[in-house]
Amino acid sequence: MTMFRTGPRVALIAITSLLAVTACSGDPAEVATSERPTTPDRPGLPAAPDEPGRARDVAADGDVGDRVVTVADTDEPAVSNLDPDLLAALQDATDDAAEDGITIQINSGWRDTDYQNRLLDEAIEEHGSREEALRWVSTPDESAHVTGDAVDVGPTDAAYWMSRYGSDYGLCQTFANEIWHYELTVEPGGSCPPPRSDSAS
Ligand SMILES: [Zn+2]
Repeated sequence: MTMFRTGPRVALIAITSLLAVTACSGDPAEVATSERPTTPDRPGLPAAPDEPGRARDVAADGDVGDRVVTVADTDEPAVSNLDPDLLAALQDATDDAAEDGITIQINSGWRDTDYQNRLLDEAIEEHGSREEALRWVSTPDESAHVTGDAVDVGPTDAAYWMSRYGSDYGLCQTFANEIWHYELTVEPGGSCPPPRSDSAS
């Protein structure tokens, strides 16, 4: 395994940025810039001088917004508040996936209670009922995201890579209807249990 724990973070970011350019259909200039998009209404533009800290305010609840986030982004609470063992397993998986040309992005990691509630409210609106929404988004009391024990990975090729190799790191898909949701479930190299059909089952 390649370990980057104490390695050159800047180089890693450069590599992942390059990979992100090839993996994303969005504007390459936006992804490649070292300045992250900071406002949803003005993606790709840095925060205006009169909005100091707005990006960090957005991230404080664990919402990574439209930022490209990987395990290296420990300034993101979504990453830094993950369980240390999960974070270490993800680091190893991310390093090895990079050797296969795959960038494992963290589309969601740790979430605070308010953010989880907000996601549930949005899911109820989208799916039309609380019962259906709970198949996709758990309550704060139930969600492994709120305790820092789950990540949603992307893009799709990264989710497939994790499906194939995740158990080498102890990372298992938890729900059959969410190919992106992974938790540290078994010992590295263990056999993942069959996923539950959904988060309500
Ligand atoms: Zn999830």
